[in-house]
This record gives sequence, structure tokens and C-alpha cells, in this order.
Amino acid sequence: MIERRTLLGATLAAPALSACATIGSDNRASMPALPHDPHSYAKPDEARVLNVSLNVRADFERKVITGTCTLTIAARDDAREIVLDSKGLNIGSISGNGRELPFTIGANNEELGAPLTIQLNGAREITIAYESAHDADALQWLTPAQTASGKPFLFSQGQAILTRTWAPTQDSPGIRQTYDVRVVVPEGLKAVMSAEMLTPDGEPAEGGRAFRFRMRNPVPIYLMSIGVGDLVFGSVGPRTGVWTEPSVLERALYECADMEAMVRTAEALYGPYRWGRYDVLILPPSFPYGGMENPRLTFLTPTFLAGDRSLVSLIAHELAHSWSGNLVTNAVWADSWLNEGFTSYFENRISEALYGEERAKMAQVLDWAGIQTAIRTLPPEYQRLHLRTDVESQGDTSPIVYDKGALFLRTIERTMGRQRFDAYLRSYFDRYAFQPMTTEKFLADFRERAVRGDAALEQQLQLDAWAYEPGLPSNAQEPHAATFDQVDAAVAAFNANGALNAEQWQGWGTFARQRFLQTLPRELSRTQLDALESTFSLNETGNYEVAFNWLELAVNNRYEPSVPTIERFLTSQGRGKFIRPIYRALWAEADWGRPIARRVYAQARPGYHNLVSTAVDRIVNGA
Ligand SMILES: [Zn+2]
Repeated sequence: MIERRTLLGATLAAPALSACATIGSDNRASMPALPHDPHSYAKPDEARVLNVSLNVRADFERKVITGTCTLTIAARDDAREIVLDSKGLNIGSISGNGRELPFTIGANNEELGAPLTIQLNGAREITIAYESAHDADALQWLTPAQTASGKPFLFSQGQAILTRTWAPTQDSPGIRQTYDVRVVVPEGLKAVMSAEMLTPDGEPAEGGRAFRFRMRNPVPIYLMSIGVGDLVFGSVGPRTGVWTEPSVLERALYECADMEAMVRTAEALYGPYRWGRYDVLILPPSFPYGGMENPRLTFLTPTFLAGDRSLVSLIAHELAHSWSGNLVTNAVWADSWLNEGFTSYFENRISEALYGEERAKMAQVLDWAGIQTAIRTLPPEYQRLHLRTDVESQGDTSPIVYDKGALFLRTIERTMGRQRFDAYLRSYFDRYAFQPMTTEKFLADFRERAVRGDAALEQQLQLDAWAYEPGLPSNAQEPHAATFDQVDAAVAAFNANGALNAEQWQGWGTFARQRFLQTLPRELSRTQLDALESTFSLNETGNYEVAFNWLELAVNNRYEPSVPTIERFLTSQGRGKFIRPIYRALWAEADWGRPIARRVYAQARPGYHNLVSTAVDRIVNGA
């Protein structure tokens, strides 16, 4: 995913390796030992899900997914029960071997939901009749007024632990599952999924149209995702294309033109793309994230459609997850840097190969600034790559998980040489394809295959300091981008005498503009803000990243002429990365900002995803 979610707070015991006890010989191969996942109730060393088969209806009237979920299970010979994750699900009946199976639903935890424990009575295939809650966290049901097409829309977001709100299964990233789905949607709408599409045009079904899908590769189930709406497809290359609402297609195809080249570039770096097609689904503006790497079908925010392809590194990021994350997956969320740090590093390598070293360097410098802020502001226990799950998560750890993670890999690359490190990474993805990974296992593998007892190299790398200690080890190197020297000089000139150069700004790309706005002093006078606005027309920019950096300044300095832009910004999209900080900044400007926040939020809230409105509720209710 891009962005940058605050990781899950931990509620259960700290992780520990659980031994894989006696397993029946039939099942041994399908039940390798897994580390304990504090974010799941599953007991995978006793019984685990191998395949999820959904036969459901997307009921737009009642805003629920309803139908059956059939699970294929591997279990120890002596296993009496299987424990699933479920949150808010209404469970009807459960059957297996032609009989009803007794089950219990345990105490509900606000974050994790409840354990659903089913007596197996020897069954290895069970069918659960169920329905999701109308406010399931994973699902957003958009009204016709909230979409470009004027037709309703549904999308799901499974990561990190939300799949359990729309399908009863073992929702732990270490438990890989295949899936097949038959979903009935209202006539006139089309369903797409992170899976092979078996019925492109759908089939007649009672009360609508049925679409069938199949994911043959075992994946962590947070990747099972669905989109339903007035969707059309545009081809980009032989195995790449764009799904979106009709009126967005042309802009989307322009922006996504490099997708096929990106897949080729990624393959040249780290080996074959193993998922068949690589398509993207451009969602309505309320999608709460930048992107989500659902296999075969990345989900994307429309806010990256800048009109000049300047924000397409978002696609490089989600594509890179086809290796780091979807192919080799963090076994527990405390190790999410293995997904996100690897992917951010890989994203930067794709950018470098396609758009040149300078563009890659600029991204690195912007990330470096973010890491520095995180290290200044986060408590030390949140600055480790391997996150602790026995402490409550506070603040945004994404600069650590994403950017410090990428910096770690870049440091290894610099120390041992690019060629050697690339060869190692390629073999790592081959050897661990379709398997879960932990920090401990990665470091052990890297030592065995790459360090090979070279004591001098071991000392230079400082592997354990990177993974387990706060701050940055002494071998971290600050990146430099020549383009930014010019930008930094422009900031200095503005600070000294108010000088601004409109022509220079016109020549700058998104990164340079972001650097300029991010390095301006946080306190600016009305005269300075007027000068910035009149020279660069910042209130009118169509680039969301640039607008965000500008509006943070505008809010911090109570700049009245930006209020209509703030209002438009907060009501036209629902991307959490942009939304939360602006409300937080408004709230901090008490007598000036709070009335604005309240007024805009009253209008915008119905358009936000649950995940975002829950966070903003906390801000505006002063919690
Ligand atoms: Zn990501």
C-alpha cells in the first residue's frame, strides 16, 4: 500500500514463535510453522484455511455482502476445531460433511473483532452462511451522487486486518490462501476483483448479473478485493490496462501510459512477474489510500491523475508489491517494513530506470527529510524497523516503515555493490516466492547468502542496528539531488528579500515544488503568503501533492484567501494522507480553524471512507 497508515496498535501478547506440533502426515506440507500473529485469533498450527470460496450478493439496498463462504481446510489429525477471524459478521449456519457444525463467537475486541470457533467433526470443507455488517470497515458503498458516473459504487480494502469484516476466514498475512468468488451485482454494474476474471461480461443471475473470479496463487487474504461500479476498460499494453468509470478513462490512460514499461523494468530487476495481467482500478475520490497492491488489479486514488504523469511513482510502488508483499509477505504486521521498505526501495529503482537518476534522488531527499522529522518526533520505540507490538502505536510510523526501510536497503546496496545486491534480491524473491517472511529470517538468509562470514562487511553493514534500534545507524548517508540546490537557493532568496521567480517555478516538476514548499519557514507573514499565492497561483493548483503542502502552510498561518481552496480540497477527495493532517492543522488553530473544520466536515463526512471519518471524528471531537 502506499501510505502510510499508522500501524495497528497491539492488543494481544507479544509475538513468539509457536512450535508446529505433531501434524498428520497428509497435511504436513500445507502447514509449515508460522510465527504467532497477535492480530489474528487463528491457530494455524492446529487447523488452517487453504481456499476461500465465496458465493455472495452485493446488496446495494442494504449495503451488505450476503451469501456463503466455503473454506477448504488443512488440519492436524487430532484437531477438533478451527478458529477464524470475524468482525461484525452476522453468522447464520455452518455446515460440513452434510451436517450442521456447532460454533461459538467469542468476546468482541474493538480492533480485532471476535474469534469464530467451529467444531470440525472431521470435516475439511465447511460452508458458512453469513452477512457483513452494513458498516463493515472493509467496504465503502458510494451513492450515485458520490461517483463520476452517477451510478452506485462499491469497493473493498482488506489491508491490514479488514477482510474479516466481509468474509469469515483466517485473516493473518502468514496464512496464504487461494480464493474463488461468484458475486451477483445489480444489473448495469460490473464487478472486478484482484483475481483472474472468468466471466468478463457476467452471466444472468437472479436479481442482477453474476461475475466469477479465481486467484490460483496462494496469497495473504488481505489482498482479496472487489470493486463494483459502472466500469470500463482501456488497454495500455499486452498485459496492462485500466479499469475506471467511463468519464475518467481518457485521463487515466494518459497518466498510465508507462505501465507496460514499468512491468518490463521491474522484471529486469527482480525476475518474472508471476501474476499474469497487471491492471489498475481507478476508484472514486473517496478511496482512503494512495494505492493498494491487490494482485493483478492495483486499486488507485484518482488524486494521482495530475495531468502530467508526475505522480506515477505511485503505480511503480504498487507494481513493486507484486514481488515484495504479494510474493514474499510479512508474516506479522510488526514486520511490515519487509513489505513497505522493500517496495519503497524497489519503487525508487523503477523510477531511476525509467525516469533517470535525478528524479530518483529527489524522491530520496524528500524521504530523508521525512525520516528526520519522524526521528525528532516519534518515541524511540517506534523508530525501529521491526516494530514492537507490545506497546500502543502512537504517531505516524510510516517514514520509518517505508523510508527508513528503503534507506536500509539502499545502504546495503551502496556497501556491497549494486550488482551483488540485485543478484541477492532476485534469488530472495525466487527462493521465498509465495511464502511469509520475518525480519529474523531475512537477516539470517542475507547473512548466509550475501555476507558469508565476511567480518569486515558484517561490521560495515550494521544490520541489527538498522532492524532493531531507533534512529539511524552511523552508515546512513544523506542523499543529494542537484536540482534541489537551486530550490534551496530560491527558498533562501525568498526568506532574505521576498524574491520569487514565476518562470523558475513553471520549470520545476512536482518534487521541486514540494521541496520548495516543505522547506519554507512554518511561520509566514500575510505579505509573504500573498506573494506566494499571486506569483504561483497556489490556490488553483490541480496537483494534490503540491496543494497539500501549500494548504498546510496556509492553515498554519490562518491565510483567509485559501479557505475556499481548503474547502474544495477536503470535499473533493477522501485520501487519508491528505485529509487527516489538514483537519489536525485546522483544529490546532482553535478560534480560526475549528469553525472551518466543523463546517467543512459536516458536508464532507458522508463522502469519506470509515477509516478516514473515524480518524477525523477523533480530531474534531477533541479526543
Ligand atoms: Zn506499499
